[in-house]
Amino acid sequence: MIIDIHDVWQSAATIHEYYVRAAIAQAWERLFRFGPPSSVLSRVRAFVENHATQIVSATTRDYRPIVADYNGQFPTTSSDRAEARSILEAVFNYEKFRDAKIGWNAYELCAASPYTVCPYCHLAPTNTVLKSNEHQGYRPQLDHFIGRAEYPFLSLSLGNLVPSCPTCNGPTMKHTTDVLVNPHLFPLADPSVLSFKLRPKNGKPWTPPLRALRMPRHEYEIVVDAPHGNTAAENSLKTFQLRSRYQPYLHDAFRLAKASKDGAFLRTIKKVFNWDVSLEDHLGFPINGNPTAFKNIPQGKMRLDVYTDCRQW
Ligand SMILES: [Zn+2]
Repeated sequence: MIIDIHDVWQSAATIHEYYVRAAIAQAWERLFRFGPPSSVLSRVRAFVENHATQIVSATTRDYRPIVADYNGQFPTTSSDRAEARSILEAVFNYEKFRDAKIGWNAYELCAASPYTVCPYCHLAPTNTVLKSNEHQGYRPQLDHFIGRAEYPFLSLSLGNLVPSCPTCNGPTMKHTTDVLVNPHLFPLADPSVLSFKLRPKNGKPWTPPLRALRMPRHEYEIVVDAPHGNTAAENSLKTFQLRSRYQPYLHDAFRLAKASKDGAFLRTIKKVFNWDVSLEDHLGFPINGNPTAFKNIPQGKMRLDVYTDCRQW
């Protein structure tokens, strides 16, 4: 993950909680309508009611105690696990929420997000356009940070939903990665600790001509760093293949470094082309304005880091 989006669902919290509570109540009514319930059904209901507050609240971020209780009550090795899972899939019906054409649904939820770039890669847009007479509409994918296949009671929990691009959520990247076993940075809770720098390619010496940006662009590369010893950050860097995915944007980082470090560069552009391009134009967001504006610009974190770093050379 490149950016944190802790408050992503703030404006959707109340309506979503209402929706999930209603879905749970309707499911019990349906499932308990006929005859005496099976022992697993009764136990699943007790499990859900015991944890309902945390499951439906938009502010929950740590689901590990609920997961531990679930694994304790319905171990993966037990015959009850499959029955519990199918009951929970009916109660927390993600397909219904995802595909609903009217009422509160995944489109409405995504439209409530103030963030419009994937937090995992910070390259692809994740904006939402609702269906209209003119457009079919589109929305980002919703990554279940803790997989819903294994833990279906987290299918509709806002603290488990991360709007993301299809590449990051896809089979070559996060997909079904079990973050409970293999920790990753969580955009809804963790600080954004990955950082970017422009450096000589392949770890070559940082010579004065390179530092002065006198060498051709292909002598440089974008370095993405995880803090030493931070396993979640290192795993995120690897899973989302960020080092490779950022190299096609080297020209942006190089141009920005020149614009940041070298006032003469901007003056030359103005003199030769009579074209006044400010540093803010290169960044895509104001330097001294809203401190989170960079989050809604693709590569905004990379640009901010390169700008900040190169001023210290
Ligand atoms: Zn992405």
